[in-house]
Amino acid sequence: MAKKQFKSESKRILDLMIGSIYTHREIFLRELISNASDAIDKLCYIALTDDKIGLTRDDFKIELAVDRENRTLTVSDNGVGMTAEELESNLGVIARSGSLKFRSELEAQAGGGEKPADMDIIGQFGVGFYSAFMVSKNVRVLSRAYGADSANVWESSGPDGYTISPAEREACGTDVIMELKDDAEDESFAEFLEEYTLHSLIKKYSDYIRWPIIMDVTKSRRVEGEPDKDGKPAVNWEDYTERETINSRVPIWQRPKSEVTDEACFEFFREQFGAESDPAAVIRVSAEGAAVSYKAMLFIPSKAPYDYFTREYEPGLRLYASGVLIMEKCDALLPEYFRFVRGVVDSADLSLNISRETLQHDRQLKTIASNLEKKVRSELSRLLEQEREKYAEFYAAFGLQLKYGLLSDYGAHAEKLRELLLFWSPAQEKLITLSEYVKNMPEEQKYIYYACGSGAAALDKLPQAEPLRAKGYDVLYMTDDIDDFAARALGAIDGKELRSVTGDDLGLTGDEEARELEQSESDNRELLDFIKESLGGRISEARLSARLVSAPACLTAKGGVTLEMERYFNTIKTESPETVRAERVMELNASHAVFAALKRAYETDRDKAAKYAEMLYGQSVLMAGLPLDDVSRFCEVVSELTA
Ligand code: ADP
Repeated sequence: MAKKQFKSESKRILDLMIGSIYTHREIFLRELISNASDAIDKLCYIALTDDKIGLTRDDFKIELAVDRENRTLTVSDNGVGMTAEELESNLGVIARSGSLKFRSELEAQAGGGEKPADMDIIGQFGVGFYSAFMVSKNVRVLSRAYGADSANVWESSGPDGYTISPAEREACGTDVIMELKDDAEDESFAEFLEEYTLHSLIKKYSDYIRWPIIMDVTKSRRVEGEPDKDGKPAVNWEDYTERETINSRVPIWQRPKSEVTDEACFEFFREQFGAESDPAAVIRVSAEGAAVSYKAMLFIPSKAPYDYFTREYEPGLRLYASGVLIMEKCDALLPEYFRFVRGVVDSADLSLNISRETLQHDRQLKTIASNLEKKVRSELSRLLEQEREKYAEFYAAFGLQLKYGLLSDYGAHAEKLRELLLFWSPAQEKLITLSEYVKNMPEEQKYIYYACGSGAAALDKLPQAEPLRAKGYDVLYMTDDIDDFAARALGAIDGKELRSVTGDDLGLTGDEEARELEQSESDNRELLDFIKESLGGRISEARLSARLVSAPACLTAKGGVTLEMERYFNTIKTESPETVRAERVMELNASHAVFAALKRAYETDRDKAAKYAEMLYGQSVLMAGLPLDDVSRFCEVVSELTA
C-alpha cells in the first residue's frame, strides 16, 4: 500500500519528537488518555439524543493493555472513533495550535543545534497524539467510527509517512497500539510496560479523568496447599490478575465542600505536595462566573519547605483543564508574595494546549489569579483574627516573604499586606499587628515607635527608647534584616506614622522643652563643636539629647540611611567595595555625670576631654550594634580615663 506523506509541519514535529532527549516523555500517556476521554465525551453527548447506541454512561471506559512479548502498550476507548477520512485529516496533519507552539519552542531551545533540546517545556504543552512517537517506533491506530460498519487502521513508524487500510473492530472506538522503542544503554522504554509505572502515571496525570481507566493489576492471594506430615494445611501465595479502575475519577476539589472533611484535604496536601505537616488552612473555591468558572483547593502551609528561600523552590499552582493536568506549577496564578501557597485550580473553560507565554496574557487566568489573591488574603486575615496561634506558626515560616512582598513592585502591595504583619511588642509580650498597636496607644501619643536590632535582649536596653517607655509608649521590635526598609514602606496606619527610635526626631518634645534644649545647646556650642572635631569626621553632628534618661550618649542618624540600613548593607556582600554609612549624630545626655566630667575636662585638659568624647562615641557605637572602627584605641581610652 502506498505510503502517504505527513504535511510538512507534522513531519518536523515528528522529527523533533523522535530525536530529542526528553525528561517528560511520560506525558504521552496523559495525552492519549485525554484524547480517549474526549472521544467518549463526544459519544456520550450523541447518546443523549440517540438511544440506538446501546451504551449507558456506566459502559464507557478507557483501557490499558500490555503485551510484553511484542513490546506493545495499547490505549483503548469506546468513544466516537474515526472514519478513514478522519484518520487521515486528524492524524495526518497537526491539529493543535499547542503542537505548533511546542515546535517553535523546541527549535528555539535546540538553538544552534549543538545540544539536544532540554525538554522541560514539554509538560507545559498539550502536544497531543504525536507524543506517542516519543516512546514508540511504530504506532497503529485502529478505529471504528460511530455509525460506521467497518474499521480502519492508521499506521506509521515516523516521519517518512503513514498508511491507512481497512481493518476489523467489533464496536465503535479506538485502540492506539504503540510498539515501544528499543531500550538503549541509558534509556528504558520497557518501563512503560510495567504495571507500576503505568499505575503511577495514571495517578499522577490522569487521576481525575471522569471515565474509568482500567488495567490489569497483579495481586496475591492465599491458597491452601497439600497438608504436611502433621496434617496441617500448608499455606501458599499465588499471584493473579484483576481488572481494576485506577483513577479516582472525582477529584477531591470537585466534590462538594460538605462531603470532604478538612482531614481529607490535609491528607491530600501531604500526599500530593510532599508536605510533612498539616497546612495552616485550606481554602475551597467554587466559582461560577461570566468570564470563567473554576474550582480551586488551596493550602496555606504552616511550615516552609527546606528549599523555600532558595532558587530551587518553584512556586505555582497545579492547573487542570477539565480534570486533565496541564501544568504542574503555574506561577501565573499567584502573586510573588503568596508564592508559598500550594494547591490546584481546575477549569473547564481553559484549553488544554495553553502555553507558558499565552498564560501570562490569558484573560481567564488573570481573572482566576486575582480572585485567588483575594481569597488567600482574606483567609490569612481570618486566621490572624480567629486562630492567632496557627497564624503565628505560619508567620514564623513566611512572615519574611510578606515583608518582601511589601517592598516589591515599589510598594504597590504595601497597603494590602501590612495588616498581615506582626511585630513583637515588649509591653504586651507578644506579636501584634500595627492596628493593635494603634488601638493601645495613649491618646497623646503621635507616632508608632519601633526599634530595629538583632534581638530583643539588645533592644530592651536601647537607651533611645527610654523616654518613650517612661511615657508608657510601647516600642515595637523589628528583628529581621529587611525590617527597617519594610517599616518605611508601611505608610501611616489610622493616620499614625512610624518612627524609628534611632531616627533623629522622636517628635516628643513640647514647645517649651524644645526651647530649653535649644538654649542649652547654644550654651554648650563650643563644647559640642569640639567633640565633633576631636572625633575627626566620624560623626556629622554632636548635639544634646531630649531623649536620653540613664545613658550618657547614643547614636542616631539623619538623612535617608539609617543605622539599621548601614548595619544591613555591611553584612551582605555587595559588588562595590564601598561601605554604606549613615550620617551619624551623637546625642549627649546633658544631665549625666559623664557629661559633667567631659565639660570639666574641656575647661582644664583638652586631651582628656577628647578621650571622653572618644569613649562616649565608642559606647554609642556598641549600643547601636555596630562594630568599632578601632577597638584597641577604644580600650586604651577607657583604661586611661579610669586609671
Ligand atoms: P487534539 O486532541 O488537541 O485535537 P491530537 O493531535 O491529540 O490533538 O488529536 C487530533 C485529533 O484526532 C483529535 O482532535 C480527535 O479528533 C482525533 N483523535 C485523537 N485520538 C482520538 C481517539 N482516541 N478517538 C477519536 N478521535 C481521536
